[in-house]
Amino acid sequence: MAFVSSCLLFFSLCLCYSQFFVRHMHPPTPEVRGLNLDSQTRCFHYHGPADIIAIKMKCCGIYYACKDCHDAFADHRLEPWPKSEWHTQAVLCGSCGSELTISAYLQSNSRCPRCRAAFNPCCCNHYHLYFAVPPESP
Ligand SMILES: [Zn+2]
Ligand SMILES: [Zn+2]
Ligand SMILES: [Zn+2]
Repeated sequence: MAFVSSCLLFFSLCLCYSQFFVRHMHPPTPEVRGLNLDSQTRCFHYHGPADIIAIKMKCCGIYYACKDCHDAFADHRLEPWPKSEWHTQAVLCGSCGSELTISAYLQSNSRCPRCRAAFNPCCCNHYHLYFAVPPESP
């Protein structure tokens, strides 16, 4: 009898552990808004293979696939992140679902530091819209 109950105990422990594991392997990713979003946060406007990041906007704290998606859904102007807040996690990798700080993203060399997925290097043309990059010193 003792053998049976210890077996049961072992089995239920395994079950608990596997549930824990599953839950932590698939963390709930934050909600991302955008037009025609795919599962890696590509949108109607930017849907190349490397257009996989979403950005949490400073003005509303909501992840959008891009600035044009923000303009399509939000009722206010986009506000860039001041440099003093670049330690905030505000960039979402659509490939692995991890959230990067703005500084980590800007230093990432267009690759996710976690899953190595390639980010679109052309995004830097728009950095100033999302992140208040200080003007180049002469
Ligand atoms: Zn906003
Ligand atoms: Zn968009
Ligand atoms: Zn990633």
